[in-house]
Amino acid sequence: MALLIRNGEIVTVGSRVQADIYVENETITGIGKDLETPPNTEVIDASGKLVFPGFIDPHVHIYLPFMATFAKDTHETGSIAALIGGTTTYIEMCCPNRNDDAFEGYQLWKSKAEGKSACDYAFHMSVTKFVKETESQLRQIVADGTASFKIFLAYKNFFGVDDGEMYQTLELAKRLGVIVTAHCENAELVARLQQKLVAEGKTGPEWHEPSRPESVEAEGTGRFATFLENTGATGYVVHLSCEKALHAALGAKARGVKINVESVLPHFLLDKSYAERPGVEGMKHVMSPPLRAKHNQAALWNALAGGSIDTVGTDHCPFDTGQKLLGKDSFVNIPNGIPGIEDRVNLLFTHGMQRGRLDLDRFVDAASTRAAKLFGLYPRKGTIAVASDADLVVYDTNYRGVVSAKSHHVNNDYSGFEGMLIEGRPSVVTVRGKVQVRDGKFVGERGRGKMLKREPSHF
Ligand SMILES: [Zn+2]
Repeated sequence: MALLIRNGEIVTVGSRVQADIYVENETITGIGKDLETPPNTEVIDASGKLVFPGFIDPHVHIYLPFMATFAKDTHETGSIAALIGGTTTYIEMCCPNRNDDAFEGYQLWKSKAEGKSACDYAFHMSVTKFVKETESQLRQIVADGTASFKIFLAYKNFFGVDDGEMYQTLELAKRLGVIVTAHCENAELVARLQQKLVAEGKTGPEWHEPSRPESVEAEGTGRFATFLENTGATGYVVHLSCEKALHAALGAKARGVKINVESVLPHFLLDKSYAERPGVEGMKHVMSPPLRAKHNQAALWNALAGGSIDTVGTDHCPFDTGQKLLGKDSFVNIPNGIPGIEDRVNLLFTHGMQRGRLDLDRFVDAASTRAAKLFGLYPRKGTIAVASDADLVVYDTNYRGVVSAKSHHVNNDYSGFEGMLIEGRPSVVTVRGKVQVRDGKFVGERGRGKMLKREPSHF
């Protein structure tokens, strides 16, 4: 059925216009004032509301075996939570570990999403070792439409790569035109500091941050940048958390290194005092890089407003209270991660737009358009234009609500953002022309999501 979204204020990067959007066969086919309504057209009145391109979360974990357990969401639960929060596309980290075969891992991750996700999705392929078959496997994976890699400088002997492997990955990525995303923390320093703190009897969640201090992240970020500089590859720092690491990235950018920066929702809103709460309350807020001293938040917001932080993701990674308690005797064993896939857009709108920290242009860019451009999805995703996919979010800026595990759709028994107010939420969310969400309820088609094939674009 055709769809007409009438009289909303359409927001894209560089443009705000009051108009109608007409959709046929999953695609936007017309934008204009007072469009005709052909028979059999579903009409949505968007008067008084903003209409955004579907939001894109460039960094999520759905299927994730990690630290002797599995993250709680499936693509069914994760995608519904994403859609209710206005995210119509997510990019999942495909994370086989060093002992797994990379290609088998890729097939496994794909099989978990296929026919299950209600929103569209893509993958970043993790390169967790570089051995003789790696190049041919990665070439196959890129040919399959997965045109971005992920490396971990942290997590020694599990996901982590050494400098030689990082070099080989970047050198190949440069030849293939593939962007490389990186978790930037010095693995050796993290391992040594963890040992030292545990030996001193410092085992509570409050010691997680001191085991991976800001300087350890700044070193990783600077080293990644230096390797980009010397291979000519294009990079993307994931979940940058602090001012020191930001300086390392922006210093490299200023000398012409092709480096892009993502920060994630928890680092804008939560600080290390959350992880210093006693017992499991602290453990719920353990992620890596860790929540930081509060003064870093202003630096992140400023960089986001100015565009030197490119995107806002979530690093969505739900482990429940029982799983967090695996680390009750030592912070080293707390599964890392804070869920956020459902809350990113609303909390960014509330604390960015409604508090005057971001303008609408930067909001839509950071939450949708920039990720589409960096990761080969634009203009199919990330904008509202004729011939783009009809992924649309009709947004009610007058809605008021509260984030809570009691009402969220993520498959987890806590929310990292419990009790926070939201000022705005999607009233309608479409995926390729089909209404999937109305006013906080999933009303659509499960398993509708498709894997998005992407072409390399970073030569
Ligand atoms: Zn992650």
